[in-house]
Amino acid sequence: MRQRVLRLLDSGQTISSVSRQTGVSRATVRQWRDHPDRPPSRTASCPRCQEIPQPPTPGDVYAYLLGLYLGDGCISAVGDPAKQVWSLRIMCADAWPGLQEECVQALTVIRPGNKVRRLPRQGCTEINCFSKHWPHLFPQHGPGKKHERRISLESWQREIVEANPGSLARGLFHSDGCRSNNRVRREFGGRSQWYEYPRYLFVNESRDILTLCEETLDMLGVAWSRPKPNTVSVARREAVERLDEFVGPKH
Ligand SMILES: [Zn+2]
Repeated sequence: MRQRVLRLLDSGQTISSVSRQTGVSRATVRQWRDHPDRPPSRTASCPRCQEIPQPPTPGDVYAYLLGLYLGDGCISAVGDPAKQVWSLRIMCADAWPGLQEECVQALTVIRPGNKVRRLPRQGCTEINCFSKHWPHLFPQHGPGKKHERRISLESWQREIVEANPGSLARGLFHSDGCRSNNRVRREFGGRSQWYEYPRYLFVNESRDILTLCEETLDMLGVAWSRPKPNTVSVARREAVERLDEFVGPKH
């Protein structure tokens, strides 16, 4: 990207025009023009900003973080939107310290140059990480709520998900799902008895994200149902056992 920017500047184009064509902020274009020999900084570590954009690696960590982001994460501008710095925020319940740690690890692996913060909130912890590259890594970012806009994966994301469906399912269920015991009462010959069995629920208001969850379960061979318009349920014993291989109880 840096080389492309420098080539366009060499051809006589203005900073604004180069910025418009490449999506690189004017400040960065100016910086690259004024310091062409300065080693590429964090920008170069964004796989989507390479001359030939690459998928982020490792795919399993990316798929997990994608699940966390689609489930319960949000990307918002930090300070002046013109600066194009974004915060990816994920709220993690304090009841599950293991999940918080896994979230921090995933952010650290995907954005090794950026700081990951933990901010205590009421009953939960906000985990955030600032980067200019979140919209490149999660192009589902957009104005408004996720369930009010269309959410579809880019082809490179689809390839990652198809290779790592278990990691995406883990992220989705860790952020917006649960594994809980369902109590049901059954009658047998006049006697009623309570039975408990584990099941998974994924609750989300976005039709597209629910569909993505169902497609991911299909890839894993996990049977699911949609008991409510906003809920995907995995309740059959063999389906729960299969999903346990990838998700398991929160910890
Ligand atoms: Zn980028």
